[in-house]
Amino acid sequence: MKYDVLIVGTGPAGIFTALELLRNNYGKKIMMIEQGRSLERRACAKFKTKDCAKCRPYCHITSGFSGAGAFSDGKLSLSYEVGGDLPDLIGSKVTQEIIDYTDKIYLDFGADEKIEGTENAEKIKDIRRRAIQSGLKLVDCPIRHLGTEKAREIYLQLQKYLIENGVEILYNTVCLDLNISGGECSGAKCADVSNLNKPIVINAEHIVVAAGRKGAHWLDKMCRIHNIDHKPGTVDIGVRVEVRNEIMEEVNELLYEAKLVGYPKPFKNKVRTFCQNPGGFVSQENYDDNLALVNGHSYKEIKSANTNIAILCSHNFSVPFNEPISYAQKVGKLANMLADGHILVQRYGDILDGKRTWANELELSNVRPTLKDAVAGDISAALPYRTLINILSFIQAMDKVVTGFASSETLLYAPEIKFYSNKIQMDDRFNTNIKNLHCLGDSSGWTRGLMMASVMGVLMGRYINSREL
Ligand SMILES: Cc1cc2nc3c(=O)[nH]c(=O)nc-3n(C[C@H](O)[C@H](O)[C@H](O)COP(=O)(O)OP(=O)(O)OC[C@H]3O[C@@H](n4cnc5c(N)ncnc54)[C@H](O)[C@@H]3O)c2cc1C
Repeated sequence: MKYDVLIVGTGPAGIFTALELLRNNYGKKIMMIEQGRSLERRACAKFKTKDCAKCRPYCHITSGFSGAGAFSDGKLSLSYEVGGDLPDLIGSKVTQEIIDYTDKIYLDFGADEKIEGTENAEKIKDIRRRAIQSGLKLVDCPIRHLGTEKAREIYLQLQKYLIENGVEILYNTVCLDLNISGGECSGAKCADVSNLNKPIVINAEHIVVAAGRKGAHWLDKMCRIHNIDHKPGTVDIGVRVEVRNEIMEEVNELLYEAKLVGYPKPFKNKVRTFCQNPGGFVSQENYDDNLALVNGHSYKEIKSANTNIAILCSHNFSVPFNEPISYAQKVGKLANMLADGHILVQRYGDILDGKRTWANELELSNVRPTLKDAVAGDISAALPYRTLINILSFIQAMDKVVTGFASSETLLYAPEIKFYSNKIQMDDRFNTNIKNLHCLGDSSGWTRGLMMASVMGVLMGRYINSREL
């Protein structure tokens, strides 16, 4: 099989690479391979049964057309300051220009016109004042909220557009290895997920790896086997916090998402809020090796009585140990083990009192867990001391911005982990040290969100089309 462009992964980074090639009348053969299913065939059993079915071979939440974007909350962050380190590679100005361009494409495919976080400047000043007083920084970031249902519709339209315009997509097909010799990549070894023993080779002039967080571990392996230049990066470990909507009302209405950053004593590590879901639902996503992680999302129409938000603490390592992904996986596994393979949940007050939470105690609170199969227990037995102290200090600071955030009934779910590790070393045209090999999106370590991953795809499409590589 011979193509001009082979894209591994059909998440936003891969989609926007193909889309931008089409928009520039590329006219050559594009192949995308995806280990998951087409979007209309993706369904999470949990939406009906409330229990995670531990889908094999891949979790529908993270794999398939539109990648982790399919069931995401669809919050498009419209500022270059949010969503990863891409501006360090291509510059803030270019990043912002391409965000604006990409945002228009999302609008063309049906995104809501409304932008959150741009009105009520005086009231937002008030929130910022309280943040400053408690030692936190409030980051400005307008947000276009697609909502989980709308995000799915938009990505369905994109899937249709790509196929109708000649892009070939092989679903249920996993990339096992990259064909690299003499410092050059000529293609990839792929196989049907139900028959891994019969791989096929797909050759291409350009190989674009856009495997997402789901594929970060695999890409890490590729880097080691093929000497692809990379640097172990940061990994974020934390919790998902859930409170009643009444507590978050002001921030929800004015900002939709409060992006707050702090460096609490004594460790002064970066701690930040991430992915706020007003009226949302806490969810579980499953990774390889049975690692269950907590996440959150919200619908445009169906609302819960709660708001959830992640609090993440950045971890960096140096010598003699520098394997952030393995470290975070071990922490995650420990939390899973204590919850019998599920997500752990504990009341904030119980952590302060040094006791575990019992299932019947959850019934006594105003806030009821939206993740129904989360197991009440003891997060402090799983999270490292440094991580937990950082999180508890941050929650106390948050309480001055959002009164009631640190109430004893506030729920903390663990493990919430973001694997951004392994920053692939590339130039500003996304060339790796291996000729013809480019790495994009969350798996490249340069992005952490839908918009930035899409932006990287747009640029990749332009560079390939204009041969500016
Ligand atoms: C529940 C949830 C909610 C989220 N909410 C938001 C949000 O509101 N706003 C936001 O900005 N971001 C959100 N995110 C993050 C966002 O979805 C990701 O940052 C984004 O999807 C990354 O895009 P990507 O193209 O880099 O990778 P992905 O979207 O992860 O896509 C990668 C694809 O590659 C496939 N793949 C991996 N390895 C292989 C292989 N070896 N062979 C073949 N295929 C492979 C995977 O199956 C996957 O489909 C959320 C994520 C989750 C899980």
